[in-house]
Amino acid sequence: MLVFVKAGLPFPCRRGSVLSVIATQSREKESDSVSELIVLGSGTGIQSLRRGSPSLALLTENSRVVIDSGSGTLRRMLEVGITYLNVDLLLYTHIHPDHTVELVPILFACKYADEPRQQDLRCVGGPGFRHHVDQLKKIYGRWIESQSYHLTVEEMDEKPFLFRDLRISSRPMAHIPESVGFRIESKDGKTIAVSGDTDYCRNIVELAEAVDLLVLECSFPGARKVEGHLTPSLAGRIAKESRCRKLLLTHFYPICDQFDIVKECREEFEGEVIVGKDLMRMQL
Ligand SMILES: [Zn+2]
Ligand SMILES: [Zn+2]
Repeated sequence: MLVFVKAGLPFPCRRGSVLSVIATQSREKESDSVSELIVLGSGTGIQSLRRGSPSLALLTENSRVVIDSGSGTLRRMLEVGITYLNVDLLLYTHIHPDHTVELVPILFACKYADEPRQQDLRCVGGPGFRHHVDQLKKIYGRWIESQSYHLTVEEMDEKPFLFRDLRISSRPMAHIPESVGFRIESKDGKTIAVSGDTDYCRNIVELAEAVDLLVLECSFPGARKVEGHLTPSLAGRIAKESRCRKLLLTHFYPICDQFDIVKECREEFEGEVIVGKDLMRMQL
C-alpha cells in the first residue's frame, strides 16, 4: 500500500500510477532532515557524458522546487522522484537555453492525456521571463497550453515572495540583463543561495550572506577566465565574503576536468568546498 509521507502528494494520486509510485518511494527513502538540495545537472550546454545541463532540485517539508531546467532535466527529475505532476515550483535564473529548454517538455508532459497535471504550477524567472514564455506559447501553441491546471508565470523583482514553507528573494547577477540569483529560506531555518550564471558581483555576496549552502557556477578554470562567469578562485572569494557555511560548485564546462578546481578555490575559501556531480544530494 502506498503511504504518503508528510510532504504529501498535493494532488489526488491514482492508484497504480507508475510515476506516483516512483515519487512516493523516493520520498520514503529520505532521512529525517527535511531540506535537501539535489544537483540534477552539474554541466552546461556543452555535451558531456559526466555532466547534464544545469538544474537543481530543492526538497523541503512542503515543497518540491526545480531551479533551472537544461536539456534532460525531466529524466533527471524522475531519477530523484520528482515528476511533471508533483513539482510545485519552477525557478529560472535566466533565459539562456542551457538553463531553460526543458520547460517546453515539462509543460508538454503536463498535458499527457492519460494523467494530465491537476495541481496549479508556478513558474518564476527574472526580468523578461514572461515575454520568453509568451514567445514559447506562440511557437508551440496548444501543445504547451495549460488546460487541466493553472500555470502562473511571474518575474522576480527584489521583493521576496512566500511559497508554502519557503521565502524566496533575488538579486540581479552579472551575466546578462535578465539574470537573477536566488536566496531561499525554509521554515526550518535553512538557507541556500543559488547564483545561476554570474561573474563576481556584490549582489551575490549579499544574497548569500551567511547561508547554509551557497551554490555557485564555476564555468572555467582561472587560466581560461571568461567574462560573465566565475572561476574557482572568484567563487572562493564570494564564499569567503558571504561567510557561507558550505560552498557547492556546479556548471562546469568540460575543460574544468583538466584542472584542480578545489585547489584553485582554496586560494580564497577555507570552508567546505563540494564539487558538484549529477544526482549528488545534500542535506541542509
Ligand atoms: Zn549557463
Ligand atoms: Zn548563461
